[in-house]
Amino acid sequence: MVAEHSAMSTIISTGKPILDNLARPLRDLRISVTDRCNFRCVYCMPREVFGPGYAFVPREDLLTLEEIARIARVFAAIGMRKVRITGGEPLIRRNLEHLIEMIDAMDEVDDISLTTNGSMLSPGRAVDLRKSGLKRLTISLDALDDPTFKRINDVDYPVSRVLDGIEHARAAGFSGTKINVVVRRGFNQHAVLDLVKHFRHTDCIVRFIEYMDVGETNGWNLDDVIPASDLVDEIDARYPLEAISQNYPGEVAKRWRYRDGAGEIGFITSVTQSFCGECSRARLSAVGQVYTCLFSSQGHDLRDLLRSGASDDQLLQAVREIWQGRNERYSELRATATSIPASGQAKVEMSHIGG
Ligand code: SAM
Ligand code: SF4
Ligand code: SF4
Repeated sequence: MVAEHSAMSTIISTGKPILDNLARPLRDLRISVTDRCNFRCVYCMPREVFGPGYAFVPREDLLTLEEIARIARVFAAIGMRKVRITGGEPLIRRNLEHLIEMIDAMDEVDDISLTTNGSMLSPGRAVDLRKSGLKRLTISLDALDDPTFKRINDVDYPVSRVLDGIEHARAAGFSGTKINVVVRRGFNQHAVLDLVKHFRHTDCIVRFIEYMDVGETNGWNLDDVIPASDLVDEIDARYPLEAISQNYPGEVAKRWRYRDGAGEIGFITSVTQSFCGECSRARLSAVGQVYTCLFSSQGHDLRDLLRSGASDDQLLQAVREIWQGRNERYSELRATATSIPASGQAKVEMSHIGG
């Protein structure tokens, strides 16, 4: 493996950056480690669809942690520098820390983060994640009042336990934790100022996400989307804001800070101001399908190739071709409402590829 790994590094050091059809490099890989979750968020895994009869992926079909790490190494050889672990709920996956250790050991990777609903962030787990090399955490929390939060997670899960998880992360040494808030009209609009107020003067960065038409099960409607610009106006009226620049090219969130120095917030404007032109993300599902857009209908299978004994060079060639063939820009096309790509096929669910 060491020899194969250095062979891949040679390819990257001698070649030009690998670009897709729209001249976008690959920088980020989002790895979904499970399609299962202990929540049933109404906008992601609605209970009517993801109920007792739902066929989750059988264990033997999941990529092993070693298989995931091997694929990640191949992506690193064509430019990947950032990894985000997601799901489903990634902390359900046993031994996840071992995967993080393997990824952290890759020289090319300079950032590894994880998105979680926070329900399994016990003090011990937070310490284990930190020790394994995880750099940053994103914790999802859509409201600060129990009636709203429980209506969204649909498993009667209280806010206080997610807040405990955030505290355990801080105590374990994680800083700059992001708090993801999906804002949906009629659901949690009132929670926006509560969340702002709660996390001002902390080192957590709240990020408001426009509700997206991912998958086919959440009954998405454009009327349910609250444009981020409306939220900026609402927050600015109470706590004056000023825009700040991106941390790096291709950063998804638009950043603002409070003029009084109380910290930073972000907005992910996937619906009203698309950012496809800078999208450098690939997504790997728990069964080894690579998706080159959050709104793809079909992935590119790597598991069969891997399990049929492919060499690292063959995997590298496959991944390179997948990226070079990429031409998706779904959100840009959606913005011109009449030209949403209608493939006639169902889009992949969020719980299969993470956010
Ligand atoms: N279970 C973990 C969690 O909830 O943080 C990780 C996976 S979850 C699919 C990743 C992120 O996607 C979460 O922050 C979630 O709120 C967001 N998300 C899910 N469905 C969404 C949708 N339809 N529109 C926008 N964001 C969504
Ligand atoms: Fe689970 Fe996350 Fe989806 Fe909620 S958003 S159902 S916590 S995967
Ligand atoms: Fe990237 Fe697809 Fe989202 Fe555009 S719509 S930003 S290509 S994931």
